[in-house]
Amino acid sequence: MKEQRFGFGCMRLPILEAGHPETFDYEKIAALFDAYLAKGFRYFDTAYTYHGYECEKALKKMLIDRYPRDSFELATKMPLRDVKDAEDMSDIFEEQLTNCGVEYFDYYLLHNMGMNVYEKCRQYDVFHFVLKKKEEGKILHTGMSFHDTPDLLEKILAEYADCLDFIQLQVNYVDMDQPNVRARECLAVANRYGKPVTVMEPCKGGTLINVPEAAAKLMKDYAPDASIASWAFRFAASQPGVTRVLSGMNSIEQVEDNYSTFESFTPLSAEEEAVIAKVTEIINANTAVPCTACEYCTHDCPKNIAIPLYFAAYNSIMRTTGSYSSQVGYYNNTVHAGHGKASECIKCGQCEKACPQHLPIRDLLVKVAEKFESGGFFPTRAKK
Ligand code: SF4
Ligand code: SF4
Repeated sequence: MKEQRFGFGCMRLPILEAGHPETFDYEKIAALFDAYLAKGFRYFDTAYTYHGYECEKALKKMLIDRYPRDSFELATKMPLRDVKDAEDMSDIFEEQLTNCGVEYFDYYLLHNMGMNVYEKCRQYDVFHFVLKKKEEGKILHTGMSFHDTPDLLEKILAEYADCLDFIQLQVNYVDMDQPNVRARECLAVANRYGKPVTVMEPCKGGTLINVPEAAAKLMKDYAPDASIASWAFRFAASQPGVTRVLSGMNSIEQVEDNYSTFESFTPLSAEEEAVIAKVTEIINANTAVPCTACEYCTHDCPKNIAIPLYFAAYNSIMRTTGSYSSQVGYYNNTVHAGHGKASECIKCGQCEKACPQHLPIRDLLVKVAEKFESGGFFPTRAKK
């Protein structure tokens, strides 16, 4: 069987209507899943919360109902932010089995572990909850997706290493030493405890695909036939202790490209690492807001502010030196689709509690509003 270094991340599946994550493009999803499985890969990563809480059901329809259970591996996650009490854990777990139409999960993770939910997790002992489910045969491998400091990771593993088989970390070449991610140190902690690492966000929400021109030129000059994305995947998969890298794919071309990266995987050479170091410098100098577009911040925003979309537009506008028009149009269209403007933020702070990147979203929205809502660029929104 093919080495399973390459997993299908189902966080951003193709949809039919922008801004409506539950409007799955089933035809396209089926084609992508078919192509991925046909290449000999089998790992699918979903979660209770993805796609407006509908993603597990979409996987049932497009994967589980269409393929024999032993032809794929399914990973899903306990939504820690939604757990209100100990009973909730059992209810949610059972609901997930039903959503997916399975008897067991191959991989089951505590989702988005961080300081904001850690005390609650200790109180309800979610760690032993998943261990018990493993003993019952309803989970084959237990894990945790983690978005916080290496200190917290160390603290959790010191206490609960026996409950967790693997760790899912955000690892990509721009986040290795970013103060809000510290991927290098988190990897070192996981390695010290002998926990294999699955990588999420290897391309940082697409940031490492749409790189500045100067960065792309460096990579293309070095290896004209290698895609920009392949550098990011190879970097992630080359890190110590990494056994799997997730990729959210939206086209058959991406499946093919990732296949060529992983079918006979070669770690980065020292020369290639030097190219990546220069690329990282260029990208860091050009990224105003290191948002991964995970959308965790938008669930409870009382003003329905399209935070990641505004940050993407802001990043684009900050990279350009000339015309404002396309990004301003993009911003205006988002508002007209029914989202609150950046300036309508009431600073309640819900979003910042949910942000795995620990971004100062409220302050950043002020900057977004200054950029997009002044200077006559912004027409008044029609009252709904
Ligand atoms: S602080 Fe602003 S953007 Fe964040 S959830 Fe509250 S209203 Fe929404
Ligand atoms: S602001 Fe934070 S939570 Fe929101 S999409 Fe970006 S990274 Fe995710």
